[in-house]
Amino acid sequence: MKSITSVTGPVLLDELGFCQCHEHIMLRRGVSCRLNPALRMDDTDKSMNEVMHYRSAGGHSLVDAQPGGCGRMEKELLEISQKTKVSIIASTGFHKLSFYPDDHWIRNFDSEALLDFFLHEINRGMYMDIDHNPPKTSTCIKAGMIKTALDLEGLTPRYKKLFTAAANAACKTGLPIMVHIEQGADAERLLSLLLDLGVSPSRILFCHMDREILPDNRYTCLLREGIHLEFDTIGRYKYHDDLTEVKCIRRLADAGYINRILLSLDTTRTRMKSYTPDGIGLDYILRVFLPLLRTNGFSDEEIAQLTIKNCRNVFA
Ligand SMILES: [Zn+2]
Repeated sequence: MKSITSVTGPVLLDELGFCQCHEHIMLRRGVSCRLNPALRMDDTDKSMNEVMHYRSAGGHSLVDAQPGGCGRMEKELLEISQKTKVSIIASTGFHKLSFYPDDHWIRNFDSEALLDFFLHEINRGMYMDIDHNPPKTSTCIKAGMIKTALDLEGLTPRYKKLFTAAANAACKTGLPIMVHIEQGADAERLLSLLLDLGVSPSRILFCHMDREILPDNRYTCLLREGIHLEFDTIGRYKYHDDLTEVKCIRRLADAGYINRILLSLDTTRTRMKSYTPDGIGLDYILRVFLPLLRTNGFSDEEIAQLTIKNCRNVFA
């Protein structure tokens, strides 16, 4: 693929630039926000302001990782992208089922209906008003990423059905498949399933792999398969400090995998400065984390690999 689908249309791969590949910019109230109030980000002006600061700090593009049916705000993402000139890549796919009402349509769709839904959102446009109602009215705003989620329930029949449809959509469209990996979930088993279903390893991105810093061989076993890992616990000191993160990235870089690691914040209301003044801000990687990488010996070339080239390669 030479271009990536953003909410405003195709973006040339070379114009993707600095990209945080897993963020949440807008999120409407609903089940997920009831479970975690920090997930509600429904003030367009505040979110716009946050993205503006990201752009001023050097951000060119980002992925909004909220799939349809659980609070995605596709029209607002388009408005923010148009006004800030930051390319936003939106997501189809599915989240943890605990984020949907008990009677939600996504639980009842069969694999074929799910595949049709994903393909429509990718090829024609994302559906609107689907948090409660089944897909009916489509926008013209296309999804450029397939977001999925593996929680501790594992690959039970209902999750296998969802992953199968998402993997088929990835194979048919060439889009990357991003997976929320709940801490403690069986990432290796899921990887086998995705590979068996024919997904190219270079299109697979496992997220939150640094909530808990794992033994190096857990990372290298996954990386050896050719997939990408996303480190997005940066600036989240309740898990660990940034230096621990930097040292882990250094070890994986030294083992030959710097071209397989992506950086992001997976941000929430409590970390966006526009919603929470003492939050770290969406520009934290640019302002704070990259200088920390530099003072710890990362070269400009390595930093460009982590923040520009790797994201491009996931889509390319
Ligand atoms: Zn997320």
